[in-house]
Amino acid sequence: MKNDLYSLKGKVALVTGASRGLGQGMAVGLAEAGADVIGAGISDMSETQSKIEALGRKFYELKADLSEPDAAKHLVLKAVEEAGKIDILVNNAGIIRRSDAEKFSDEDWHAVINVNLHSVFQLCREVGNHMLENGSGKIINIASMLSFQGGLRVPAYTASKHAVAGLTKSLANEWVSKGINVNAIAPGYMETDNTEALRANEERNAFITSRIPKGEWGKPDDLKGPVVFLASEASSYVNGHVLCVDGGWMSS
Ligand code: NAD
Repeated sequence: MKNDLYSLKGKVALVTGASRGLGQGMAVGLAEAGADVIGAGISDMSETQSKIEALGRKFYELKADLSEPDAAKHLVLKAVEEAGKIDILVNNAGIIRRSDAEKFSDEDWHAVINVNLHSVFQLCREVGNHMLENGSGKIINIASMLSFQGGLRVPAYTASKHAVAGLTKSLANEWVSKGINVNAIAPGYMETDNTEALRANEERNAFITSRIPKGEWGKPDDLKGPVVFLASEASSYVNGHVLCVDGGWMSS
């Protein structure tokens, strides 16, 4: 096996929602494999920036509110202007709203679908055009266990993550022959701000933990290996796959 099969040296990765949590873990993992990183999002990314610069890699911080209709287009133009190109796109930014389904508001529905699905499609399209021009690229969308299961009190989130899996397969079919791999990672239950409410509920936390065969929640670092694999030459024949990184949840 070639030693550099997993190397991302000379590559530029655009990671949305890179300020904390899974986005930060994956951005640092990509930098450890050699990539420079463009972090995009609404929150302060200085912690991610220091971690990446400490590795000797470049970090570009681009502010973008992906709930805004034209944010994806402007972000991609700016990213290419600053970093010269985008080889890897990680669509990580996402939000969750919890409420009983019968009381779930239109406002929450649109907010979640907008960030978790519409902006993901827009970014795939805008970066996809850039990658088609270059004849190569790797797109990794962040899905969820709720790309397969229903979940509780999160109807918009579940709908958006099922759709992200479908979108991944649709784009994969169209673009694989043009040099672009589109895949997804479905994280299991991971310790981040997104799941703080679940972990704060003792009963729910104990129930979830008891159902994870590994017996513990995942950490952002657990996504480093999978994202580097899907961003590298090592996965060049992997296409339209939704890779579960879940401590065995889906097998239990
Ligand atoms: P998080 O809340 O810790 O981080 C979310 C990131 O997205 C932050 O950087 C935030 O600033 C950014 N973001 C939110 N709204 C945005 C907007 N409008 N524009 C730009 N950026 C925005 O969440 P996380 O747990 O790290 O989740 C990251 C991704 O992983 C999400 O897509 C989430 O659905 C998915 N996921 C998380 C888990 C989990 O257990 N934590 C499990 C499965 C999937």
